[in-house]
Amino acid sequence: MSTVFDFRGAPGTGWSQPEPISTPSDTIPERLRRRHLPHWPRASEPELVRHYTGLSQKTFGIDTGFYPLGSCTMKHNPRVNERIALMPGIDRIHPLQEDSQVQGLLSIFYEMQEMLAICSGMDAVTLQPVAGAQGEFTAIRCIQEYHRSNGESHRDKVIVPDSAHGTNPASASMCGYQVVEIPSASDGRLDIEALKAAVGPDTAAMMITNPSTLGLFETNIVEASRIVHEAGGQMYYDGANFNAIIGKTDPGRMGFDAVHYNLHKTFSQPHGGGGPGSGPIGVKGHLSQFLPTPVASRRESVEGDSTGVEDGYWYFWADVGERSIGKVQQWNGNAGAVVRAWAFYRRYGRELERMSEYAVLNSNYLRNRIMNPNPDVAAKIHCMPAEGAQADLVMHEFTLSMSPVKELNGVTGKDVAKRLLDYGYMSPTLYFPQIVPECLMIEPTETESKEVLDKFAADFHAILSEDPEIVTSAPHTTPVKRVDEVWAARKLILRHPITDSED
Ligand SMILES: *Cc1c(COP(=O)(O)O)cnc(C)c1O
Repeated sequence: MSTVFDFRGAPGTGWSQPEPISTPSDTIPERLRRRHLPHWPRASEPELVRHYTGLSQKTFGIDTGFYPLGSCTMKHNPRVNERIALMPGIDRIHPLQEDSQVQGLLSIFYEMQEMLAICSGMDAVTLQPVAGAQGEFTAIRCIQEYHRSNGESHRDKVIVPDSAHGTNPASASMCGYQVVEIPSASDGRLDIEALKAAVGPDTAAMMITNPSTLGLFETNIVEASRIVHEAGGQMYYDGANFNAIIGKTDPGRMGFDAVHYNLHKTFSQPHGGGGPGSGPIGVKGHLSQFLPTPVASRRESVEGDSTGVEDGYWYFWADVGERSIGKVQQWNGNAGAVVRAWAFYRRYGRELERMSEYAVLNSNYLRNRIMNPNPDVAAKIHCMPAEGAQADLVMHEFTLSMSPVKELNGVTGKDVAKRLLDYGYMSPTLYFPQIVPECLMIEPTETESKEVLDKFAADFHAILSEDPEIVTSAPHTTPVKRVDEVWAARKLILRHPITDSED
């Protein structure tokens, strides 16, 4: 049992504050100085501890329960990675130190670049972008500079399938491109005829993820690459679904020219709540000169070399006037995220394909359990995949449409998602991709056991057999009940009642 501490409580402080820094009185203009001390919370130490412990128990994360949030790859975050990221040789150094003093971290960056290039079939990698979305922007900018350098600035369109994540069209339009959306075929996959109709001399690139957000592998991806390349466009791989294929195939082999990796998805760097992410990109050789710098480089001394060059790693910077698009972040972006992902990758090594095997197995197993309940429940369920997504096999994630149950008794996808919170689960991804009506998108990841998946399927069935009243008014057990999203968006309160007081 825990209570959230009332900030207006009794006097006393649960912490000791540093001595105030004395500043010459004229450095801060009179009008900017506080006239009264701020109303900081006052509490004894145990009260303060209870406050934060209470808050920690009111949240939900991968450490508290199953988190089947489709497309987000919410996998276990091994603790050993935290230990490694906090080692003094990594944690207590500064980017402006001499390269010779930070050889350890530079070697990690270098290895990570190499490993990402190898597993994706690319030639060069930058670790700089701090999110998948920023990786998309960075890579599309490289593609843009590539076209410009070939005298092809007239290419102003980027093709995106309708099942794409919203960041794809957003990144393309941030680079100034027009987005051409192409519909999916009736089986949910890429429509090759629609692609042929969309490409032309104005095509700059196509952005696509494989497997798609429906969890379907795009079997005709090589043909799609050929069509786009023949029109002079470039192929961009949205790597958010890389967890499904790693070690089995790679975007390079499928014909892609550029890719982003979500280290906070595929490579276990913790994410959620807007925490630090990392979205490195990899490119084929013809795009490498446009990458942001610095990148970590390695040099080996050559016998008989009189220049005094030693073995080691160093930051390679593009010279002014070279073709790099410039920086999108400082140095190597979120260095700690890169280190955690590197540690994760090193633990798997060449066994990395096991990860995608189990991710795909878990997804198919869970989908099968949900879609094939015992006959009693089956009569009540009326949930089924959207038309077109009825493939026998899916990849690392799958979608369900709640349309039938909505027609039957008014229970929507959102209601089921909210009710799952009462059962101790994070909700699946809701209403995405938009082409599936009343969509729930489920991604179990490789880290869940058969027991967890069985229990989830059973609870899912239980919800669909419940009194619709209970489901449509859920959640009932969470600290915050169902929120009014329209009100929250229209009447946003951004002032803190205590710390933002008048003085
Ligand atoms: C998560 C995701 C992205 C964007 O990645 P962020 O790291 O969240 O910016 C892009 N595409 C797909 C399919 C995703 O799931």
